[in-house]
Amino acid sequence: ISLGLVVREYASLSHLDKQYFGFPGEILMRMLKLVILPLIISSMITVAALDSEVSGKIGLRAVIYYFSTTIIAVVLIILVMTIKPGVSQTADHIDRAGTTPDVTTVDTLLDLINMFPENLVQACFQQYKTKRKELELAKPVTNTTTTMPPLTTAIMAAVQNITKDYKLVGSYSDGINVLGLIVFCVAFGLVIGKMGEKGRILLEFFDALNEATMKLVQLIMYMPVGILFLIAAKIIEVEDWEIFRKMGLYMVTVLSLAIHSVVCLPLIYFIIVRKNPFTFTLGMAQALVTALMISSSSATLPVTFRCAEENNQIDKRITRFVLPVGATINMDGTALYEAVAAIFIAQLNDYPLDVGQIVTIITATVASIGAAGVPNAGLVTMVIVLTAVGLPASDVTLIVAVDWLRDRFRTMINVLGDAYGAGIVQKLSKRELERMDLVSDVDVANPF
Ligand code: ASP
Repeated sequence: ISLGLVVREYASLSHLDKQYFGFPGEILMRMLKLVILPLIISSMITVAALDSEVSGKIGLRAVIYYFSTTIIAVVLIILVMTIKPGVSQTADHIDRAGTTPDVTTVDTLLDLINMFPENLVQACFQQYKTKRKELELAKPVTNTTTTMPPLTTAIMAAVQNITKDYKLVGSYSDGINVLGLIVFCVAFGLVIGKMGEKGRILLEFFDALNEATMKLVQLIMYMPVGILFLIAAKIIEVEDWEIFRKMGLYMVTVLSLAIHSVVCLPLIYFIIVRKNPFTFTLGMAQALVTALMISSSSATLPVTFRCAEENNQIDKRITRFVLPVGATINMDGTALYEAVAAIFIAQLNDYPLDVGQIVTIITATVASIGAAGVPNAGLVTMVIVLTAVGLPASDVTLIVAVDWLRDRFRTMINVLGDAYGAGIVQKLSKRELERMDLVSDVDVANPF
């Protein structure tokens, strides 16, 4: 941060210079994204190949944890109800644009079709092509008022294209059909687990792949210079410091995210695990900073793995299942933000919300699980929430301008939620893990 502030103050960098400056950070991000695919595949297969009864139980616990913490996060909207940030608060106000991306809860459900990829190779890169196509297709939105910065217009156009043409919301992350791969790997792993001696060679292969990938992650993270430039470049990039004065929604979001991460999650962890939650959070620090910098829980996944296993000593059999699934469906920060933003927009519109609509908001924000773990994905599912309560979907433009900043904070909470999930599921699954150790006589740290 200091480096960024100093360079900003004393050097006048051209647009190109800024890009050069951000180059090492860009490389770090690319390397992290690179290892997502082998990491997810090897983790999910090896863990599903364990005793199917045990992996089923671990999975069920993880999903119950994800759902309940998301609901808890959303209930925090009560906070907003008391503060009413939207009232007499216009700083976040941008003239409404005429964009109305039509995406509904049904679309997210239809998205489930991606759980069944028709081609495994395509599942690993198909959307990358499509996304590029979307961006190329992205034309400035008609009726958009000139007050919207070009980037905002481009994002909205891309959102429109994604929702209109592809109806794909969340199963794709960084060009990978994560949901589809998870389903395939779990099924494949279960089959391998049932094959006895014959399956062992495959299991050992994927286990070795997992270990090699984690070693690679370790190497990547040895390069703190990447993080240094990533942060400094972002500080230099900020053009409009005014953004920090547009505080209404921003403050409430940060406040609710803070309460969720400092009170709710740690409390649940303490009640169940009986260990100091703040030491746990500290152990995740590197992953949290990475999430804050790159706004993507999927791209942070390799670092999350490392922090959870090495600093917080979470069993590999747990992290391998809980973390990839969490990075795909557990979005506490996003859910929380969407609920807060929906109420904020309702208040700006003088739109009275009754209890029924609040319940609708709570239910619709569950759509946050449909958000991919990539930057700004929450904007797409935000449209679902607005539509569900009857607010104009085009009002998503009211929050788009500073979304990049809020996105960072909610991504951090998404990652923290996944990590706590792993800690809690480990505690709840202690008996099964011990039983497995007895049966197979392998040690916990190296089960394979
Ligand atoms: N960027 C978030 C994540 O990766 C998703 C979002 O809320 O936009 O978890």
